[in-house]
Amino acid sequence: MSRFLSSKYASLEPYTPGEQPKTRVLTKLNTNESPYPPAQEVIDAAAEAARMLQLYPDPDCTELRKAIAAVMEVDPDEVLCNNGSDEGLYFAYLAYCDGDTPAVFPQISYGFYPVFADITGINYREIPLRDDFSIAPEDYYDAEGTVFIANPNAPTGVPLSRAQIEDILQHNPENVVVIDEAYVDFGTESAVPLVRKYDNLLVVQTFSKSRSLAGMRLGFVIGCKELIADLNALRFSTNPYNIDRIAMAAGIATLKHDEINKAHNRTVMETREYTVAKLKEMGFVMTNSTANFIFVRHPEVSGEVIFRKLRERGVIVRHFTKPQIAEYNRITIGSREQMDILLRELAEIMEEEQGSEA
Ligand code: PMP
Repeated sequence: MSRFLSSKYASLEPYTPGEQPKTRVLTKLNTNESPYPPAQEVIDAAAEAARMLQLYPDPDCTELRKAIAAVMEVDPDEVLCNNGSDEGLYFAYLAYCDGDTPAVFPQISYGFYPVFADITGINYREIPLRDDFSIAPEDYYDAEGTVFIANPNAPTGVPLSRAQIEDILQHNPENVVVIDEAYVDFGTESAVPLVRKYDNLLVVQTFSKSRSLAGMRLGFVIGCKELIADLNALRFSTNPYNIDRIAMAAGIATLKHDEINKAHNRTVMETREYTVAKLKEMGFVMTNSTANFIFVRHPEVSGEVIFRKLRERGVIVRHFTKPQIAEYNRITIGSREQMDILLRELAEIMEEEQGSEA
């Protein structure tokens, strides 16, 4: 840090993204990307857009918003496009949190939530999960702040139903409720159909996971026109050209071929069930994840040891140090081949560890 940095950032603890290895890694299962590359049509559309890079992109994102609105069955005015859904979440903190209105979110959830609170200089309240890592909707009644809930939650993968989200909305008529649906497309009910009914609901989604575009940085927010207008004012006050030409073209092409994404997502869900069954045979314990990752521990071997030993063998998963989840690892569901490598390495590690105990 330089001596010029504003003192208001002195205690900032930045978000730590999952590792993006610089060297070749055999099996990367740590940041919940899709194992499948984008469709050729998407790559072609991105290349075509590159021909016009001397010109600024459309700051209104007109065509992309139309495409998103069509798929989500809302109006283009109910859509805001973002440079990754992290940006949409950040705008929601800027717009709906302040000295009187803290952020309220689960104690175990997306690691960026407290960081957004810190950078925007607002307070936050963390609500513990139940012992089984599920979220109790009643804990969010009259939240007295802006609610942020990842659904399914991360890193646990545990979902709330749409009825439970609606219950939270009904009990917070005076608070904005932001549902972060980064992982919704792997078997969770979306809250998007509720945006017409609740003027306090924002739903944040991303192209990073279920649409194979993590490298592109493209996300969006759905909400009533008024809320979207608020966020748009912040976007025009920070970065009006937040979606570049290539991202816009790739996003439109991706949605045009959404059936390819849906087929990939079905495969990921099948691979998840396959992996879960195999891990259970090996004695692992896990949450009922409806995300493209699973959250697992072994009763006899520490989460940190499993993480480290997998890494030595070229398999990277995500390990968190928060005490309540330190025994767990979050494992992205990759291709069947990648999961077979994971299972093979884990079987060997278990034999080493359990053998050495005997
Ligand atoms: N929400 C959650 C719960 C996430 O795990 C992530 C990915 N790190 C994001 C939002 C942000 O994703 P992106 O910015 O790539 O859209």
